[in-house]
Amino acid sequence: MKKKINRQLCAVVLGGVFITLVLTVLVFYNLFQEQVMADLKAYTQILSESGLLTEEKFEDVLADEGFRITLIDPDGNVRYDNRVDTQTLDNHAARPEVMGAWTCGEGESIRRSSTVGQNTFNYAILLQNGDVLRVSQLSHSVWSLFFTAMPYFILLVAAAVALCVLLSRYLTRSLVAPIEELGKHMDDMEDVETYEELKPFVQTIRNQHEAIMESAQMRQEFTANVSHELKTPLTAISGYSELIENGMADEQDITRFAAGIHKNAKRLLTLINDTIRLSELDAASEVPFETLNLYDIAATSVDMLQINAENHDVSLYLEGESCEMKGDRQMMEELLYNLCDNAIRYNNKDGKVWIRVSREAAGEVCLQVKDTGIGIPKEHQERIFERFYRVDKSRSKSTGGTGLGLAIVKHIVVKHGARLELDSTVGKGTTIRIFFPAI
Ligand code: ADP
Repeated sequence: MKKKINRQLCAVVLGGVFITLVLTVLVFYNLFQEQVMADLKAYTQILSESGLLTEEKFEDVLADEGFRITLIDPDGNVRYDNRVDTQTLDNHAARPEVMGAWTCGEGESIRRSSTVGQNTFNYAILLQNGDVLRVSQLSHSVWSLFFTAMPYFILLVAAAVALCVLLSRYLTRSLVAPIEELGKHMDDMEDVETYEELKPFVQTIRNQHEAIMESAQMRQEFTANVSHELKTPLTAISGYSELIENGMADEQDITRFAAGIHKNAKRLLTLINDTIRLSELDAASEVPFETLNLYDIAATSVDMLQINAENHDVSLYLEGESCEMKGDRQMMEELLYNLCDNAIRYNNKDGKVWIRVSREAAGEVCLQVKDTGIGIPKEHQERIFERFYRVDKSRSKSTGGTGLGLAIVKHIVVKHGARLELDSTVGKGTTIRIFFPAI
């Protein structure tokens, strides 16, 4: 993180410094070039108007002004040059500044030397006698300016890099410090001071942390509850079998004890099945839904539960119409089984249970299970969907309840994107309605 910020900062600063250097040199060089040419022009004008252009005076007046002065006759031959021997010079008729002077009265040119790092600035005017006066000056090229600025540039870069290192250290420290603090104080995040931009992130982490803690606690409670629930039937099985093993049971007792073992073993199996089912539902990701006829599934469930209902002296009625919905068949069977089984078990002698499947105005499919049973007191209604929550423990256990049926129902409802309504009055009965989304 620190290295990355460091690298990026350095890159930005280096880029910035380099671009500034190039632009400054270019702008400055342009101004400089214009200035040199303007000076050269002014000097040439003064020279041409001064009357000093006689060969004798040339040497005295212009000897070491830093200018090279050349007089060129109308044929392009060099008549005079204060720096170079005229014999060695070729014809100047093709020089752009000379041609300019002949055609427009004045001409200028800049000749770039690739090796010396200097440019020659030339300015020429046509004199009254037909000669051309050319004044030249050597001056810095853009490269020499660039190289002159180089040491300053290197110094600036070194200073900028040092500043970047310090800045990135400070920046990473102030960026990372609150995160490190959060890591140390996951349980009391409220107290950790953070900066504005980090707040949404902290909120998300906080929510996730709370959810994880909650789920860990729930899991812990669930494990404790499962162990506790397993203990009772196991103790009974162990007790009965020990009595038989020690020969303390006569013929009649053995049958009775075996029935006890059988009943408790069955209870264990149901409990284990429900526990496994719940954890499957907990873990299962998206299940592929198919189009189901809820009325047909309800009819099958009613058939299956008929004997159970008769044993409790309860009558089952199926009402409604054929309704299609999207769902998982096994889950729908479990949902119907759990709801109808409860409506039978928590019913009175000669009680009734109505199962109704209907289509609502909005296209939703409604499954209603209504009983004339004992009802659920108001204060328990919120909690009966929790795992192992029972209103009447002994009745639940004596009728083979595990305390997990409605927790499984709730899971299935959520998985199907459905909503559940509970309506119950003690002594009168309970109605549970589940609305499945329209297809
Ligand atoms: P159990 O296996 O104990 O029936 P459930 O999760 O199915 O567990 O139900 C939780 C509790 O809700 C039950 O113990 C019971 O007290 C209450 N309950 C559920 N359905 C009904 C009903 N139709 N009528 C009255 N009470 C009910």
